Amino acid sequence: MKEEKFIHLCQPDSCKSCGACCGLYNYVNSTKAALTHRLKHRTEQFRRLVKGPGDLQAFSEMIKKTEDQVKRYDVIYCCEYLGFIDQEQKKVGCLLHPLQNKGVDLRDVSFYGRELCDGHFCPSYHYISNEEKRALINVIDDWYLYGLCVTDIDLVKEYFRLISEGVHEMPSANRFKETVLKDIALKFFSLKTIWPYRSEDVNRLGKYYFDGSLYMISHIDYEAMDCEKSRFDKIFVSLTSDFKNKNEVKNGEDLIQTHINAFMDAYHNRSDIA
Ligand code: SF4
Ligand code: SF4
Repeated sequence: MKEEKFIHLCQPDSCKSCGACCGLYNYVNSTKAALTHRLKHRTEQFRRLVKGPGDLQAFSEMIKKTEDQVKRYDVIYCCEYLGFIDQEQKKVGCLLHPLQNKGVDLRDVSFYGRELCDGHFCPSYHYISNEEKRALINVIDDWYLYGLCVTDIDLVKEYFRLISEGVHEMPSANRFKETVLKDIALKFFSLKTIWPYRSEDVNRLGKYYFDGSLYMISHIDYEAMDCEKSRFDKIFVSLTSDFKNKNEVKNGEDLIQTHINAFMDAYHNRSDIA
């Protein structure tokens, strides 16, 4: 039997990467614009100031002094060594990694230590199937959205389950390279940032962090709204929904169903291959 190739979720290709477990989304201001500014500035400073291990402490102190340090969760560390690792600033990653430092591994100074930084695989590696991983990688090319979605196991698994049920098979990952299907799936995953029922109070963007824990996963009180638990409950929770009444629940369900239907309608009409 042919052995399955390992899929590197952290750095899947040249278009994007993830830095969620390094605390990327744990700043109170974790909008894309704010994080881009933070990572850009930090990377420039690292390139300018760090010529060897002896410069790291001064760099670390300077970053902590000049950057806004207000976090969503105090227990989750926000690593000052996370930056952009490519010229085009499409990929977030570790500035201490040997590939960034002419083969020298500087991760000994990190909060988690070199071993953990090097060997950490978040729960998504285990729970998301290989076909789902490949499909997701084909759908999302933007580091900000990719990191939010790849760590949201329920959102990923529920989407692929629902569309698979709709088309009576798990679509092969290659089908998500087709412009039409890619675009439809991307619109669904983009709900992560534009969901109209998103609760600002929940104050949570990513779901799983470095130690694999779940933080503040709140449940939706359907009983209080006098309605049944939604068939899309897992997706609603992933999107940190806060519904005011059963009409909003119904509208939320219609919205999700529209995305599923769009995929089902387009699936059997083969379109161009991107
Ligand atoms: S959260 Fe998972 S995919 Fe993202 S960088 Fe960490 S281990 Fe990699
Ligand atoms: S030192 Fe560790 S926690 Fe910090 S950016 Fe590198 S891999 Fe992430």
